[in-house]
Amino acid sequence: MEAWIPPSHPRRESLLVRERLVEGFREGFVAMQGLIAHGRGECFDYLIGEQTTPPALEAERAAAAALLLAERPVISVNGNAAALAPRELVELAKTVGAKLEVNLFYRSRERELLIAEILRRNGAAEVLGVGDDASCTIPELFSERRRVSCRGIYAADVVLVPLEDGDRTEALRRMGKTVIAVDLNPLSRTSRAATITIVDNITRALPNMAKFAEELKGRPRDELSALAGGFDNDRNLREVLRYIGRRLEELAGRGIRLELPKA
Ligand code: ATP
Ligand code: MG
Repeated sequence: MEAWIPPSHPRRESLLVRERLVEGFREGFVAMQGLIAHGRGECFDYLIGEQTTPPALEAERAAAAALLLAERPVISVNGNAAALAPRELVELAKTVGAKLEVNLFYRSRERELLIAEILRRNGAAEVLGVGDDASCTIPELFSERRRVSCRGIYAADVVLVPLEDGDRTEALRRMGKTVIAVDLNPLSRTSRAATITIVDNITRALPNMAKFAEELKGRPRDELSALAGGFDNDRNLREVLRYIGRRLEELAGRGIRLELPKA
């Protein structure tokens, strides 16, 4: 049951996105903690102005190049990602030739199956990480959080982790993998530990990456290597922080009062 939001509501888009997550929670594939994580993301989206910033665009291009260069690229999918951008995940996977893997912080067979089903409905031919397929383990992590597919994330050279947790990002890096994170919070451990961090909403980041991947497809490998290898994550995150700083300074100078229409 979807809540009705008036077409003229100024925060309509954001509210509709929230409804998708609440719906996913009711259906059983979004975790309760996922709702909290979304709220944190929304807060940082406000700070960047709810649009893709120039440093995010640069990261999206470098990430597209890294995915195209990869031998065994994998896109990791959790409940929030499946609720927010299922079609975009499948499209990007097809464009760069990546595998899709269900990878949950709070694993249950029911949630795995529901997410795999959503991806299949959106055009995925194969979905890894369901049931016994997730039988390899990420070293140093405990319980269900460490289970991954032996044919997927375990063997991958490049992993895209939208909305990942810091511990797992660090563990994947220690396994020698190139980790591409999508995280609206430039200060999270995930953002600071990843090889390439895209500080953008997953709903904008995935289509941008697919567009870049289409553009870059047929380019020489050394050009792609220069794009991916030349990316400096620490510098990019500092640019994001400066962007937010400048934006807040500018807003503080100009004033942000809402003019209310007369009753
Ligand atoms: P970390 O473990 O990396 O230090 P955390 O514990 O603060 O981070 P988690 O709950 O582990 O955060 O991960 C969720 C992350 O996903 C948050 O940093 C949040 O900003 C981000 N996030 C939530 N929704 C979105 C979205 N739609 N697009 C991009 N990022 C998002
Ligand atoms: Mg965390």
